[in-house]
Amino acid sequence: MPTQHSSSRAPLRQKITEAEYVVVGAGSAGCAVAGRLAAAGKSVILLEAGKNDRRNYLVTKPGMIGPLHAEPRLKKLVDWGYHTVPQQHARNRELPQPRGKVLGGSSSINGLLWVRGNRANYDAWAAEGNTGWDADSVNEAYRRVEDYEGGGSDYRGTGGPIKVMKHPRPTEASLSFQRAAAETLDVKVLDDYNGAEQEGVSTFQQSAIDGLRYSASRGYLHDQELPSLTTLTQVHVSRIVIENGRAESVEILTRQGPQTISATQEVIVSAGVFGSAQLLMLSGIGHSAHLAEHGITAIHELPVGDNLHDHMFVPTTWEMPSALHHGTAGYFGKAVLREQTVGRSILGHTVFETVGFVRTSLATDVPDLQLHVLPWAYPSPNQDAPIRHEVDPRAALTVMSSLIYPRSRGTLRLRSADPTAEPLIDFNYLAEPDDRRVLLEGVEMIREIMAAPAFDNEVKSEIHPGKAIDAEAMKDEVTNRATSIYHGVGSCRMGVDERAVVDPQLRVRGIDGLRVADASIMPSIIGGNTNAPAVMIGDRCATFILDENL
Ligand SMILES: Cc1cc2nc3c(=O)[nH]c(=O)nc-3n(C[C@H](O)[C@H](O)[C@H](O)COP(=O)(O)OP(=O)(O)OC[C@H]3O[C@@H](n4cnc5c(N)ncnc54)[C@H](O)[C@@H]3O)c2cc1C
Repeated sequence: MPTQHSSSRAPLRQKITEAEYVVVGAGSAGCAVAGRLAAAGKSVILLEAGKNDRRNYLVTKPGMIGPLHAEPRLKKLVDWGYHTVPQQHARNRELPQPRGKVLGGSSSINGLLWVRGNRANYDAWAAEGNTGWDADSVNEAYRRVEDYEGGGSDYRGTGGPIKVMKHPRPTEASLSFQRAAAETLDVKVLDDYNGAEQEGVSTFQQSAIDGLRYSASRGYLHDQELPSLTTLTQVHVSRIVIENGRAESVEILTRQGPQTISATQEVIVSAGVFGSAQLLMLSGIGHSAHLAEHGITAIHELPVGDNLHDHMFVPTTWEMPSALHHGTAGYFGKAVLREQTVGRSILGHTVFETVGFVRTSLATDVPDLQLHVLPWAYPSPNQDAPIRHEVDPRAALTVMSSLIYPRSRGTLRLRSADPTAEPLIDFNYLAEPDDRRVLLEGVEMIREIMAAPAFDNEVKSEIHPGKAIDAEAMKDEVTNRATSIYHGVGSCRMGVDERAVVDPQLRVRGIDGLRVADASIMPSIIGGNTNAPAVMIGDRCATFILDENL
């Protein structure tokens, strides 16, 4: 049976089957929607397939992402464990697609990097007809979401539910990288890439403070008093029940068979880029011909599951004693011991330290390449197999050439009508040749930076890809080494034309009482990591609902 608990300290309530708002999925966006509606006094039931995260050291301790993602047995506890279908343009590889299955969703298992994207991304959404999603409007939402350690400003918020701070102790290797990149590429070292400008290199900001992960669940649920919120964990939602064109309730799976939970006002689907599209299709909303293949009667024809896209990166690893850290199991074991005894270990913060937003020759108006820098060796050439991967034991800096405006588009489709089946995830990675070009230029750019005088002979050798794989050889090798950054978006596109699944207030087109709020609604991916945008989308969804019900 599902565990029932209220997120306030109120006693457990049995058999709660109706609320004004039912939110499906307690991830980055779902926690923000549910938390804000409940804070405004609305009755809310929040349904999450995974377990409670509150006392789970694996997810509350920021640096545990290292062991968590390296050890398949740990990962299984909090991850849906999905993979793509064979990727035609990437040697038919089946790339892993981890996704949080735990309270907080992917914000509980992610790298904690807090990145809003480029302001121009939001102005582009607004220019497509998504009124109210321009950079200045979303800035207001971001300021409400954040509690930034650096203080409030026109661009940064304080006092919000998600605590954000700069990485507290970047290694010397990482700081040298900032100097070398600025010198080589002639870009600025920025104090705050989430402020007025993004282009340059900077120290990463993280959603964590005092050694505690600030997942959406921590910020919006656990830290708040919300008597009108009921959170049910280990509840798999199998269908939205739509009657006479209106979402009335959702069906959940229980050992006794399907059970119904009703929404007197609205159902908000926040099940993530895979879960939300899958649930709409299971409920009869999607391409009718595809639904018919699985015996599902179409209620409403919409392009659900189209427009799926993602960021990719190619890791490069450099032997550097000043990177200090060793990616071995024993090294992490010692860190766990230290964290639990004296504190202040590497587990207190994200493993990523430096970020860059720079331009390749394909860039138009904004930087089109992101550099992720971490002081660890990275398993290479790829991590597709669900096994514990060997990493080079030397102290090393890894710099990732990251494609942030992919041209390739794919699809999310049903594998079967079974609601517990993994959907067919096809990003169609690298189908567009320019996507490869950006990644390849990025690798060569990194090689140039690593040879800069600013490093003062700190770089001992190129571990991955290694000198033997030169620029020419990389053209082929990129299809073996490029991998997902786990930033899938777009499967329930927001817009005002026929390609849209939801309108700019996130209402599912043609169905009453139903919204989608999560990373799936992005019409095009933002230039940066996608957790902060997903939280912002959840926050804005709550604003839309509250404003309509003043
Ligand atoms: C390993 C990893 C590392 C990442 N690192 C970063 C990073 O450092 N910075 C960054 O900005 N972004 C990062 N991302 C991406 C970012 O975390 C996601 O884009 C973001 O969290 C997506 O939020 P969401 O609300 O759309 O979905 P999610 O947070 O995934 O939430 C969806 C929720 O719905 C639940 N759910 C799904 N289906 C059902 C169902 N049928 N019934 C009930 N519940 C259901 C899921 O269990 C989950 O809790 C990372 C992602 C991963 C996986």
